[in-house]
Amino acid sequence: MPTAGPSAAHDPNCLFCKIVAGKIPSKKVHEDEEVFVFHDIHPWAPVHFLMVPKVHVPSLAHAGPDHVGLLGRMMALAPKLALEQGCRPYPEGGFRVVVNTGAEGGQEVHHLHIHVMGGPRPWLKG
Ligand code: AMP
Ligand code: ZN
Repeated sequence: MPTAGPSAAHDPNCLFCKIVAGKIPSKKVHEDEEVFVFHDIHPWAPVHFLMVPKVHVPSLAHAGPDHVGLLGRMMALAPKLALEQGCRPYPEGGFRVVVNTGAEGGQEVHHLHIHVMGGPRPWLKG
């Protein structure tokens, strides 16, 4: 098991902690020991899912040495899930990865999440 570091906790008031715990329903894409992946409720693109660590890390601004392995595994998982969800292969297809961080970064839910978006254009946004 990777060490989760000082943020190894679940915030009872956090929307994405509740989704990870199954207290709020979601359309699950993938789950393993440390990562939960589900469809965005307001998709911007034909494929739009969110990848979250099961531990409550508030944002990418909170990432440090303890999170290197976890973040690396999440990034390495993104292309596999993107293809499984219907993104066409690189280079004609591909996908976009976004991590909104803080107010000026456009972050609304304060549990670190990676947006993965793809599929035929036009998209609703972006
Ligand atoms: P951000 O602005 O990066 O914090 O993005 C938060 C994302 O979470 C938005 O794209 C929302 O559509 C999405 N979202 C909010 N509530 C839910 C929910 N209950 N299930 C799935 N996605 C959600
Ligand atoms: Zn959380």
